[in-house]
Amino acid sequence: KVKEVGKNNFVLYSPSQEHSPREILILQNDLHLAIERDQLLVYFQPRYKLNTGKIIGAEALIRWNHPKLGLVPPMNFIPLAEETGLIIDLDHWVLEQACKKLSEWKHKGWDFINISTNISVQHFQRTNLVEQVNHIIKKHNINGKNLELEITESMLMKNVDYVINELERLKSLDIKISIDDFGTGYSSLSYLQQFPINALKIDKSFVIKIQNNTNKEIAHAIIQLAKSLNLHVIAEGVETKEHLEFLVASGCSEGQGYYFSKPLPIADFEQLLFKQQREEGRGCEYIEA
Ligand code: C2E
Ligand code: MG
Ligand code: MG
Ligand code: MG
Repeated sequence: KVKEVGKNNFVLYSPSQEHSPREILILQNDLHLAIERDQLLVYFQPRYKLNTGKIIGAEALIRWNHPKLGLVPPMNFIPLAEETGLIIDLDHWVLEQACKKLSEWKHKGWDFINISTNISVQHFQRTNLVEQVNHIIKKHNINGKNLELEITESMLMKNVDYVINELERLKSLDIKISIDDFGTGYSSLSYLQQFPINALKIDKSFVIKIQNNTNKEIAHAIIQLAKSLNLHVIAEGVETKEHLEFLVASGCSEGQGYYFSKPLPIADFEQLLFKQQREEGRGCEYIEA
């Protein structure tokens, strides 16, 4: 089944292999209650500076802890939420959780950590996202520069003037914008330079199958493109040491993936940050001694 998302972008939407049709009905029914029943969670996948191996941020990824079906991954309910428009509430909820954390970390002195959240096409095109974001960052008294919004290529190509204007306004709040799953959409490269964006995220499909020469060349080309447009570049799906070495050699500065860490519950992510902080501390003692 091919599901239309926006005008220029088609994705394959196959019902999950993990859930029966009956279970999908249950999910569909229960989703609108998930927020008020406190069943949603945010996981954090650490993002690393590749040449230092240091954590510099995290991507916030939603999870649904369903009372009967257990932990449901986003691919099994995001498409449902997109169909009903509920995705706007989910994105907003994640954004709020991310900003709460940023505020907490700011007080801990962890203001070098950035969080990125995923923004759906509907949220971006059909709501006053800029006002919402402005409201949330003021409410939690955080710096816009610590927040990054991940949008997709398909969002750029609809209502271009509107999009540029919205992105300019986000930029004036110091919010960063990255293009998620880059390379899988149909964005025209000449268009790309008119948008005030900060980074391209290389889609994991090109990184995971980097042993395939075509994918290697695509990943390499995206890194070069980012450089010539003066954008940061972030690799998703860094699963092995070979992936890491290829990316570093190609000049990719940032990455995330199972080689480093899977998405983690917040407490586990914070443990990693504490560990990094302790190790940095030890490094200083060592130099002093
Ligand atoms: P995404 O934004 O591209 O997020 C990256 C996905 O790749 C995550 O899947 C992550 O767990 C997975 N991943 C990270 N490293 C590796 C790796 O080394 N190997 C492999 N095979 N996978 C890796 P996840 O958490 O299942 O999320 C899937 C998608 O659901 C996300 O893709 C994003 O598009 C969507 N999503 C998640 N949270 C939200 C949200 O709050 N709002 C919206 N609108 N979409 C969300
Ligand atoms: Mg993402
Ligand atoms: Mg995404
Ligand atoms: Mg992605």
